[in-house]
Amino acid sequence: MNTLYKQIPQVSKLLNDKQINHYIGEFFQIEVKNEIEKTLNEIRVQIREKAITELSYESVVHKIIHRLEQKNPYSLRKVVNGTGTIVHTNLGRSLLSKQAIDNVVKVCSGYNNLEYNVKQGNRGSRYDHVEGMIANIVGSEAALVVNNNAAATMLSVAAFCEDKEVVVSRGELVEIGGSFRIPDIIEVSRASLKEVGTTNRTHVKDYERATSEQTAMYLKVHPSNYLIQGFTKNVSNDEIVELAANANKCREQKIITMEDLGSGVFIDFSPYDSIKENTVKESVQSGIDIVTFSGDKLLGGPQAGIIVGKREYIDQIKQHPLCRALRVGKMTIAALEGTLRDYYDELVAVQSIPTLNMILKNTETLREFADNLSDKIKALTNRVNCEVVRIDSTVGGGSLPLSKLPSYGVTIRHQHLSTQDIEKIMRQHTTPVIGRINNEQYVIDVRTLCEGDEQIILDALMRQGDFK
Ligand SMILES: *Cc1c(COP(=O)(O)O)cnc(C)c1O
Repeated sequence: MNTLYKQIPQVSKLLNDKQINHYIGEFFQIEVKNEIEKTLNEIRVQIREKAITELSYESVVHKIIHRLEQKNPYSLRKVVNGTGTIVHTNLGRSLLSKQAIDNVVKVCSGYNNLEYNVKQGNRGSRYDHVEGMIANIVGSEAALVVNNNAAATMLSVAAFCEDKEVVVSRGELVEIGGSFRIPDIIEVSRASLKEVGTTNRTHVKDYERATSEQTAMYLKVHPSNYLIQGFTKNVSNDEIVELAANANKCREQKIITMEDLGSGVFIDFSPYDSIKENTVKESVQSGIDIVTFSGDKLLGGPQAGIIVGKREYIDQIKQHPLCRALRVGKMTIAALEGTLRDYYDELVAVQSIPTLNMILKNTETLREFADNLSDKIKALTNRVNCEVVRIDSTVGGGSLPLSKLPSYGVTIRHQHLSTQDIEKIMRQHTTPVIGRINNEQYVIDVRTLCEGDEQIILDALMRQGDFK
């Protein structure tokens, strides 16, 4: 029997060790105990394999502390987004505005009137809180909020097209990240898809020819994450609306027109000389019956799917049993109401909604910020080399595929570490720093950094050992 086994400290002794005990509070005792046991098991294996020849109490404590330092009490947690992709689906899409966050805290810290009509003292509807605001902003008769835009689209198709046909242009049969595919959505809504036109060109007459007794909907889909360029033609909302109106003159079962906008913007970006994207209001004004879009893409709010349009159709959608299954909770409504209030004044919206603010950040400011970060890194350590570079940010989130926003980034290099090593060290910091790799260099785009992120980046670079 190897005598080293006898030197393994007891779990109870380690739990009471001053240095380890310090972590109880941040972690539950059971979590600390688990880390101790994992460490001791590792040591037993090392002894058995004769990988170690001596064992001190201090070294065991050190190993446990190292483990605890790496461990984070929460699975879902803050990261630093240095990728320059503003609506980054993997990194949680839109950040909430202060007003939205404050409202979530206020509403959710106590009871609330989620389904209670305070004026009348009886049951109310959760749908009433934000629908008027949305309808007001986009100029629609009615609005409905569900879990996300995939749900909004699925529910809308299901409400009108069961056992009937949905006509979609071949150029719009898209797949959005995270396995949202238009043909699948139509299938789960128990409707059948009638494809028209070709990938690059679809004409009104294609829709016309595809129309039959079975037709229940003309569906337009924003291609979101790709662009068809060159010899192209697609049918406008106006044309679709006119076609449906003509067909409906002599039909019992009306053809509904719908547009899945994907992102859904509330403000016109053109005066800012930034991106170009039609607003939800413009879609509604085209006369289309229903428009759906996301809450957490360019709107800059919480995850949600918003359906706006004609009252009779929205009322019909509300009656569908799926609506109950896809409903939103109080946190979403509170965050959405906070976000929507910001939109009452466009100047407030562009300043306080982080997604809009990041899109509209000017290049000068970004350059100054990047210079500043680079100077701070240089002042802090000479172990890494950094440099300010001109790069392009993207809006992301399946929105505006080709619009690049000119930005600045800080590259980080090290004599002995590869780009991949640097990426990994930064990513594995207590608060993960997610950068991007540009021309085989690790770079942090400053456009998507939030308040306090600069310090986290500096801390990550100063982490003992890694950047020696
Ligand atoms: C993003 C997107 C969706 C899915 O929206 P979620 O809110 O992520 O469910 C659907 N359609 C289009 C066109 C999109 O761009």
